[in-house]
Order: sequence, then C-alpha cells, then structure tokens
Amino acid sequence: MIRFEHVTKRYADGTTAVDDLSFEVAEGELVTLVGPSGCGKTTTMKMVNRLIEPTEGRILLDGADVAGTDPVALRRRIGYVIQQVGLFPHRTVLDNTATVPALLGWKRNKARERAAELLDLVGLDPATFGDRYPEQLSGGQRQRVGVARALAADPPVLLMDEPFGAVDPVVRERLQNEFLHLQATVRKTVLLVTHDLEEAVRLGDRIAVYGQGRIEQFDTPAAVLAAP
Ligand code: ADP
Ligand code: ADP
Repeated sequence: MIRFEHVTKRYADGTTAVDDLSFEVAEGELVTLVGPSGCGKTTTMKMVNRLIEPTEGRILLDGADVAGTDPVALRRRIGYVIQQVGLFPHRTVLDNTATVPALLGWKRNKARERAAELLDLVGLDPATFGDRYPEQLSGGQRQRVGVARALAADPPVLLMDEPFGAVDPVVRERLQNEFLHLQATVRKTVLLVTHDLEEAVRLGDRIAVYGQGRIEQFDTPAAVLAAP
C-alpha cells in the first residue's frame, strides 16, 4: 500500500533528515513511527503527501510513485491530522468537518449530513457540538474534530503527526482508545508519529523505531518490547 524505496531527504542546509529508508505498510495496517525529537519521523510522513519531496529514492502508494501524482489528488486520498489541528475559527464544528466534502463539490446538505455522521463516529454528538465554534471546545474535542475532518473524504490513508500530543494524559488515553475503536471500524492505512513508546505500543500493529535518520527496528509491539 505505502512503500518507501531507498528514500533519503537532505534539506537545503545539508541536514540529512532521513537516510536510505526502505519499508512497507500493508493496506489497513497502523504503523507507528517512534523515536526522539529530530530523528526524521515528520519528514518521513510529509513525503507521503508531498509536503516534502525526497532527495533520493521513491515512495509508492498503491504501486504508483507519488512524485507522479498531482498533490491535490493525492491529498484527497490521504487524510492528515497534526498535533494542534488548525480549525477555522469562524466556522462551526459542523462546517469545519464538512470542509473537504464541500471542496469536493458535494451538495451542502449532503456534506453536512456526512459531517454529522463523522462527528458521531469520533464521539461528538452533532446535535450538541455541531453549532459550536472551535474556541468553545476543549483540546480533546478539537482533536476529535480534526480526526473527523481528516476522515471526511473517506481517504484510504491517514497520516497522523502526534495527534494526541497536545492534551493531558487522561484525555490522551481516552482519545487513543477511541481511535483504536474507530480504526477497528474504518480500517485505514495509518502512519502515526509519536515520541511516546507507550503510545506507539498501544496503537501500532507494527512499530518503526527511529534512530537518527534511520529505522532501527520495524516489528510488532511484542517484538519491540522483547528487544534488549
Ligand atoms: P522528528 O519528526 O523526528 O522530530 P523531523 O523530521 O522533524 O524529526 O526532523 C529531522 C531532522 O531534520 C532534524 O534534524 C530537523 O532539525 C531537520 N529539519 C526538519 N525540517 C527541516 C528544514 N525545513 N530545514 C532543515 N532541516 C530540517
Ligand atoms: P476533554 O476531556 O474532552 O478535553 P475538558 O475536560 O477539557 O474536555 O472539558 C470539559 C467540558 O468543558 C467539555 O464538555 C467542553 O465542551 C467544555 N468546555 C471546555 N472549554 C470550553 C469553553 N471555552 N467554552 C465552553 N465550553 C467549554
């Protein structure tokens, strides 16, 4: 589904963020990328939806090189969730969630219906929260809207960069559990970046353990935990 072939990324200042990376993520698999800050996790993820272009190597999505795919078309197939989701402050929760279907040209009513379904799916009652504005939500609720919005176009792939990083530990655990439940329902192919090994273990079908610019281990949680 997602395949990295000898991918290297050197930034303009000479920093090698990612060095000769090769790995594969199966369809419907949730892979967590874990490691300390600065080891190349975010760079890896952003090359999948072409926010960053590799210096060498290639990335295949369903067998096709992403470099040959129009970024807009690509991003329709790839949902993206970041740590502090940027919701539109002057749009309601429902309209924020309906943004992507609206961009895709869905009729307003249909887009809003879909948005309500998605809010329900992430545990926000649309009747209660749909008409609120982002500032009227807790941090955890905002992250849920971010996940709902990323799912709106029903993309087969989700990229998540520290999606539960900005909330307190209790809320984080709840969001993690909700997300696992959600993933069991929607079965997306997911790359999820975290610096927290516990989170990587809890969420990942497999875990890519990063050292500086490289994946040092790529295995199931049980195997990673058993490693010396
Ligand atoms: P992580 O997500 O694991 O924290 P990143 O992929 O963000 O790591 O960064 C990997 C390395 O690349 C770090 O040394 C970082 O400082 C560097 N880096 C990231 N973005 C840029 C950039 N735009 N220009 C130069 N160096 C960068
Ligand atoms: P969570 O556990 O989801 O992070 P919090 O404990 O932060 O939730 O918030 C508890 C409740 O307070 C939530 O139902 C939220 O809707 C409400 N709330 C938080 N901030 C605001 C606000 N600025 N205006 C109105 N309601 C708020």
